[in-house]
Amino acid sequence: MFTEETDVLVIGSGPGGGVVASTCAARGLSVMVLERGALPPVEGSPAARREHGEGPSLIERQPCDDRTVWCNDVPRQMYVGGRAGGSSGIYGAALLRPQPVDFEPGAAYGARLPSELWRWPIRYDEFEPWLQRAERLCGVAGALQRDFQPCRAADGGGLPSELPLAPINQRVLGRLQRAGHHVWRLPLAIDADRCLRCDQCAGVPCPTGARWSALRVLTTAGQSCRSLILKPRTEAVRLEHAAGRIDGLEVCNRDDGRHYRIRARRYVLAAGAIGTAALLLASGIEHAQLGRNFMYHCSPVVVGLFLSSTGGRRTFIKQLGVSDYYNGTPDLPQKMGIVQSLPAPGPVLLAKNGLRALPVPLRQWLRDHMLPMVGIVEDLPSPENRVQLSGDGQIHLHHRFSAFDLQRAGALTRGISRLLKTAGARLTVAGKMPPAEHVGHQCGTARFGHNRQHAVLDPQCRTWSHPELYVADASFMPTSLGVGPALTVIANALRVGEILCNEL
Ligand SMILES: Cc1cc2nc3c(=O)[nH]c(=O)nc-3n(C[C@H](O)[C@H](O)[C@H](O)COP(=O)(O)OP(=O)(O)OC[C@H]3O[C@@H](n4cnc5c(N)ncnc54)[C@H](O)[C@@H]3O)c2cc1C
Ligand code: SF4
Repeated sequence: MFTEETDVLVIGSGPGGGVVASTCAARGLSVMVLERGALPPVEGSPAARREHGEGPSLIERQPCDDRTVWCNDVPRQMYVGGRAGGSSGIYGAALLRPQPVDFEPGAAYGARLPSELWRWPIRYDEFEPWLQRAERLCGVAGALQRDFQPCRAADGGGLPSELPLAPINQRVLGRLQRAGHHVWRLPLAIDADRCLRCDQCAGVPCPTGARWSALRVLTTAGQSCRSLILKPRTEAVRLEHAAGRIDGLEVCNRDDGRHYRIRARRYVLAAGAIGTAALLLASGIEHAQLGRNFMYHCSPVVVGLFLSSTGGRRTFIKQLGVSDYYNGTPDLPQKMGIVQSLPAPGPVLLAKNGLRALPVPLRQWLRDHMLPMVGIVEDLPSPENRVQLSGDGQIHLHHRFSAFDLQRAGALTRGISRLLKTAGARLTVAGKMPPAEHVGHQCGTARFGHNRQHAVLDPQCRTWSHPELYVADASFMPTSLGVGPALTVIANALRVGEILCNEL
């Protein structure tokens, strides 16, 4: 079989893979990045503008991973990014810091979970400098709060400018603050100068490139470092290994079906929590915890309907976060997570969600008077929630939220309804839980830890079994945090990139 060679071979071009690759290339290492999906259309092109709609993205799922995953025995196409840039090509760019309590969740869950399931092998204060570097890299715009820290303090260079607050958010912010709630502006990795303030943002590709994506980092690094090669439509098939060493990676060119081998000094898996586990399983890399403890947040959505316009049909309204429920409520004093606003769903999605019978003008009126909010409930790791392969190589995902996850999601649903009513909503409607394929916050299938028996990766995110094999995507996380995972993934990828560079 034909063989290519490189210093560092990265599998997957999402935030984890993109950031490791660009870090290593900037330090002079030769780097190849394999991405099983295609390149997205060029920013600003007519094709990019066409894609920016709920039809192509949310219904046809053009930017998503095109594999079938059997979710609890039902075939589904997962709603995660499947092109260069990974899920950062369609994400919401709310890049929030986890809180110190997220790295020591034993205080909250110690009585429910054995410590090997929740323990992080790194302290928050050791990790914090990487969060700061990640925020700079992505141009996160946001402001430090006194009692909750979703982002960094302004440093000497100041912070990027934020998008102006939409009028509805000015009203909601004022009302919630006056009522004593901990409400703040979401830290967003969106370039205010290039942003069109679209009504649809999270979930669809950005037509202008205003939203930070891993592809931007790879493109910028590729322009300055000739040693970085991105290979789209190239799928990692199987790691070849013997006697505790990785000998090479079998890959497939998805355009001509040709298989060949790539050999590297170091291999970095960043194929997403499902994809990385699937590749390790397909390669016969064994570990009792591999593929287990899959998490993706238990996320209740509540829609508030206002008498006056929220602008949801015309402009960008995902701008606020609330931290009142992070550590629970008086009636349920259990750790939960943040609440954040969402864009109003488009007319096609509203129709798909049971409002098809309503005339289009009424649906449009509803969009223009709604403000949806979502809760990010930290779902607990469970070894039973796992990725597996069947004999024919198909990916199977078995997942059920625990009664405890659902109980907290229920409490947060009631909390969000109260918040929206305080903010002026006349009516609130609790949505159904998102369907099983909405696993954008997937993580946990190759956790890192101090103990090789309980963790697939060592604290440096190197597999215990093969010292030249690293994992740099969201798989490494032992618990799912009370905020979205992307900033933590990017920060950890910067850390792993630095470890690799020092090693090589
Ligand atoms: C709609 C949506 C909205 C989101 N919004 C937010 C948000 O606002 N804030 C936040 O913090 N997080 C958000 N997220 C989550 C965030 O995008 C992810 O946490 C992040 O992208 C994870 O990065 P990753 O590197 O782990 O993997 P991914 O981004 O999943 O990238 C993995 C890549 O690997 C490729 N791949 C898979 N298998 C192979 C293979 N065998 N060979 C080659 N390539 C392969 C995939 O095609 C993909 O491109 C959102 C996600 C989605 C889907
Ligand atoms: S609102 Fe801004 S960041 Fe979001 S898709 Fe539109 S241009 Fe891109």
